[in-house]
Amino acid sequence: MKDIQEQIIKTAAQLLTEAKADIVIGFSDSSLPMRATPCFITNADDAQQLVWNSYCLNNLAIYLPECFALDPHVKEQKPPPKVAVIAKGCDGRSAVGLIKELQVPRENLVIIAVPCPGMLDATIAQRLIGTSEIVSAEESGDTVIIKDQTGKETKFDRKELLAEACRFCTHRAAPVSDMTIGELPKGGEALAPDERFEEFSKKSTEERWDQFCRELSKCILCNACRSACPNCYCKVCFADQTRPNWTGTGGPLRDVISFHLGRMFHQAGRCVDCGACVRACPMGVDLRTFTYKLVKDAKELFDYTAGFDIERVPPLIEFNVDDSDNFITEPE
Ligand code: SF4
Ligand code: SF4
Ligand code: SF4
Repeated sequence: MKDIQEQIIKTAAQLLTEAKADIVIGFSDSSLPMRATPCFITNADDAQQLVWNSYCLNNLAIYLPECFALDPHVKEQKPPPKVAVIAKGCDGRSAVGLIKELQVPRENLVIIAVPCPGMLDATIAQRLIGTSEIVSAEESGDTVIIKDQTGKETKFDRKELLAEACRFCTHRAAPVSDMTIGELPKGGEALAPDERFEEFSKKSTEERWDQFCRELSKCILCNACRSACPNCYCKVCFADQTRPNWTGTGGPLRDVISFHLGRMFHQAGRCVDCGACVRACPMGVDLRTFTYKLVKDAKELFDYTAGFDIERVPPLIEFNVDDSDNFITEPE
């Protein structure tokens, strides 16, 4: 990955020097072990700060709408900046969704596709290590050696520490890009079958609803899942509107359910299964089982996978007489 990192630094410096980008969004080192921090490079001399390692987990597309947001207090808007983003599969797919939904002007975005090896999740590592804090981690091939506070070293196979979304990911390369660094992996098999999801899919409607309500009863409506999602960019979320007041802001389970039903249906045909919402949840709510059902339904009912094709209109904003509509007219 050092080689990819060198190329990222070189490419970012070149884009900034040649004024082909005003900002490069990538990752820099973190002060915490097993983490990388999103960073915004605006000067070629600072490109050295960019890193590429197994902890570049965040979906960087979340920062794109803000880069192009208009200032409501200014009459004459500045021209939009040129933004370059280091893109794994999930960042790239989210960026495509944002372009389609006119949150990001295509001509001002440089998508730099990099090969994603599947990212490691520090919280999974900490759970496996136990209560002693992780102080460092080193990779040697597929082995990760983690040292904790007591000085003890524990070896893991890389696969054990993969973020959940990465374990099931089949799209590790950005499908749309302007530049490519390294050899991009082809789409393919997930590293493990998603047994939890398969089990959920086989359930009856009533059983699925029970599971949904039971899981969501852990939710404290903190909205971290919404804030972490690159596709949740509305300036005023339906859940915060007061006229009409779609949902309450806490307390009864019905408020929680109505918020999540609204948010999840807004993700139908848009969710790229990056797992950012799940990782942000302080209550460990298994949101993925439900959002992934929508990913699967969009594929099965409309042959649509989010984030692949800038031109294709997402299924829920167009009507086609050939669409399957049994789920509306003939509920199970
Ligand atoms: S979800 Fe896929 S593309 Fe995104 S970090 Fe994980 S493996 Fe990489
Ligand atoms: S709903 Fe979750 S998994 Fe889907 S795009 Fe948003 S943050 Fe990623
Ligand atoms: S992050 Fe978790 S607790 Fe917070 S609103 Fe989302 S599901 Fe609920």
